[in-house]
Amino acid sequence: MRWLAPALLAALAPAAAAQERVPDVVLTGDITGADHERYKPLSFDVPKGVERITVTLDYDKANKTVIDLGLWDPERFRGWSGGARSRFTLSASDATPGYLPGALPAGKWRVMLGVPNARPNSRAAYRVTVRFDREGRRDASAAIAEPPIRDAPGWYRGDLHMHDANSDGSCASQSGKRVPCPLFRTVEKAAAAGLDFIAVTDHNSTAHFGGLRELQPWFDKMLLIPGIEITTFGGHANIFGPRRFVDFRVGSAAVPDIRALQKDVTAAGAILSINHPALPSGEACMGCGWVWPKTDWSRVTAIEAVNGNIAEGPLAGIGYWYARLNEGHRLTGIAGSDNHDPDAPEGKAPIGRPTTVVHAARLSQPAILAGIAAGNAFIDVTGKGGRMLEVDAEAGGRHVAMGGAIEAASGTVFRAHAVGVADGSAELVVNGVVVRRRRVEGPDARIAFQLDARSCGWAAVNVRDAAKHPLLIGNPIYLTCR
Ligand SMILES: [Zn+2]
Ligand SMILES: [Zn+2]
Repeated sequence: MRWLAPALLAALAPAAAAQERVPDVVLTGDITGADHERYKPLSFDVPKGVERITVTLDYDKANKTVIDLGLWDPERFRGWSGGARSRFTLSASDATPGYLPGALPAGKWRVMLGVPNARPNSRAAYRVTVRFDREGRRDASAAIAEPPIRDAPGWYRGDLHMHDANSDGSCASQSGKRVPCPLFRTVEKAAAAGLDFIAVTDHNSTAHFGGLRELQPWFDKMLLIPGIEITTFGGHANIFGPRRFVDFRVGSAAVPDIRALQKDVTAAGAILSINHPALPSGEACMGCGWVWPKTDWSRVTAIEAVNGNIAEGPLAGIGYWYARLNEGHRLTGIAGSDNHDPDAPEGKAPIGRPTTVVHAARLSQPAILAGIAAGNAFIDVTGKGGRMLEVDAEAGGRHVAMGGAIEAASGTVFRAHAVGVADGSAELVVNGVVVRRRRVEGPDARIAFQLDARSCGWAAVNVRDAAKHPLLIGNPIYLTCR
């Protein structure tokens, strides 16, 4: 047994921060001339309760030694990547291309090294590391996008709701037949729309996660977030970033009530947003509106305030969202196209309409989810033309952005920066009621509002077009009173 020199190891190691975690298993040794054209199994024990296995191979490539890589579980073949990869991951729902997702049984597993070349008197040190993800461990060792797509803070534009062949998405085939629409067509359209991120949210399934893992390296300018539209008899909710399947069967022995489901969403490492909450429920639209009476609001991060083309009127989610804010819950308003056909037939919302624009520390899954939770975000209702809305509140020399909290005071000033609106109006909403309006003049407008009286609760700024239709929907700034 021999260790590689630290400098060599550092040069070989993937740059991703998630890789820094201490491995659960380290297997080291040497490949010599005697191993030429032989296979070398390296056994390791997988304990119970492992949700994901990630394997990395580093080795000394001097002297033309070549090592292939593969994996067997206690009973069967689980994948082979030859000399093409130094790292792979697999879980119940998804795996690196070339590897098979599925149950991860406890017992003796084998990393299989193949040696197509080792010169007669050569010696090459190798190091195989194995990392296990278990329930409750949030630093998933193998994010779909790793390292981040962009490592800089900024405003990132995305669509948080869409479906493909893995649930009820469909599109016209080569010969014009309506067929289940393959995931790559959805992702391709989203990239063509210029989005920075998307969440693919098939109903109740994780079957699309593997496809996202395959597509992400090619779509290296757009973050792909695995999501699930948890579809129950009492409402739909998108969950973003689950590491695994979440049982949706509320009312069954497995999931007695909505609170049990919400707890499991947290355990799976995801955040939850209630979808199209104001749609009718019942035979008109089964389970569409949100009617669960015992919702745990501390485990709800966001509300889908705009679904597809529904940005105003009684079916829009904005009224429902504002009512929950008025109850004192802090919830980020987001949006999603709910696209079921990337070719968007007449009257249906294309991918990217609406767009949710999130301020995030970088373009990575954890940063976008943290940005949604923090609430410095707005909805671009048409998703066209790269419109922007920044809002700042100032009281007593303190500033906060959307999603932040500031002590309520009379004289609080709200400043909005609206970009891309040629002609329209901005409105200041306090606790759900429009209290001020100002004209938005020109495509780079700065608007200020001042509150005369001290109001406790929340305030937000929205922008409408000249015909008074909503264009930009801001998130609240919370006005706290002791
Ligand atoms: Zn739905
Ligand atoms: Zn949907």
